[in-house]
Amino acid sequence: MNNMQIKQAVLDLIREYDSIIISRHIRPDGDACGSALGLKRIIELSFPDKTVRYIADDESELYSFLGSGDQQVSEEVYRRSLLIVVDTATDDRISNSMARFAGKILKIDHHIDNEPYGDLCWIEDGRSSNCELLADFLTSFPGVLKTDTYGATCLYAGMVTDSGRFMFEGTCGDTLRLAGALLDYGVDIQTLYAQLYMDDYAFHKFKAHVLQTMNITPSGVAWTYVDNDTIKQFGLSLKQASECASFMEKIRGSLIWLAFIDNPDGTIRVRLRSRFVTVNSLANKYGGGGHANASGATVADRAQMQALIDDADALLADYKANHRGWL
Ligand code: AMP
Repeated sequence: MNNMQIKQAVLDLIREYDSIIISRHIRPDGDACGSALGLKRIIELSFPDKTVRYIADDESELYSFLGSGDQQVSEEVYRRSLLIVVDTATDDRISNSMARFAGKILKIDHHIDNEPYGDLCWIEDGRSSNCELLADFLTSFPGVLKTDTYGATCLYAGMVTDSGRFMFEGTCGDTLRLAGALLDYGVDIQTLYAQLYMDDYAFHKFKAHVLQTMNITPSGVAWTYVDNDTIKQFGLSLKQASECASFMEKIRGSLIWLAFIDNPDGTIRVRLRSRFVTVNSLANKYGGGGHANASGATVADRAQMQALIDDADALLADYKANHRGWL
């Protein structure tokens, strides 16, 4: 199916169901929250007779200003509902323990589709955000699909955060045209950017600590390890601690940067980021996955952490030896 045919199929499927449940991935980012809430708003305003719920097992501190989820419902409700899963590559990452009871699953995603699930899938892995897909959906059916300032703000928040304020690969003319269409609904970008990008004083201190103590390998892989003691010292949530990946993104010549964060269960979360170099194959080697320049994985201990750092160093050495023009 081409882009228009799949959007038509998505619309037809939504029309079929009186009850719709929307879920997104665990440990949500702005794109996951924005997609779920933005899509919920579109369906509510376009089809006022339908019951639309956004259900998630976990919450997001950072994006709670966009809105929160609805109460969990019974198996019986799931059986007669369409479950729309947004921004979630694999079914084990769906933040909804009841997902398996859904009458039908529609997957809308912009991740590489390694482990397909769902009865209907709309996947475009070249898109800069999942919200970009939903903005495309919204603008493709004028007069049928509707939103308002709030709904547009949710989608815009997802587009802006997942594209790194329109800086990451995947940002194209369509991205900006669709973002422009959302702004036309009256998004207050001053307030939105303040909600998204202001940090507390204590968090700036944590940032300073990471910049002070981070490491760099011979070929230029920057890495930091935020252990439990550091998390305690700065009074961080896991989500806040995980933000450290972005602190290392602007080091010239350091095309790969890795953040290791202690998980409460004793494992170590890995966030892999890069420019020019592809890192998802490296993440795959450690049981993770993700995008070419933004992937994730989990390692068991410090020995595995060191092995991953060594692999990243070799990958970057090889890249630098065989490519020109990187920065
Ligand atoms: P994160 O560092 O958690 O923001 O993840 C970056 C990207 O990698 C996201 O698009 C995630 O969907 C993906 N990702 C993170 N962790 C995993 C994992 N363990 N397995 C597969 N994909 C992952």
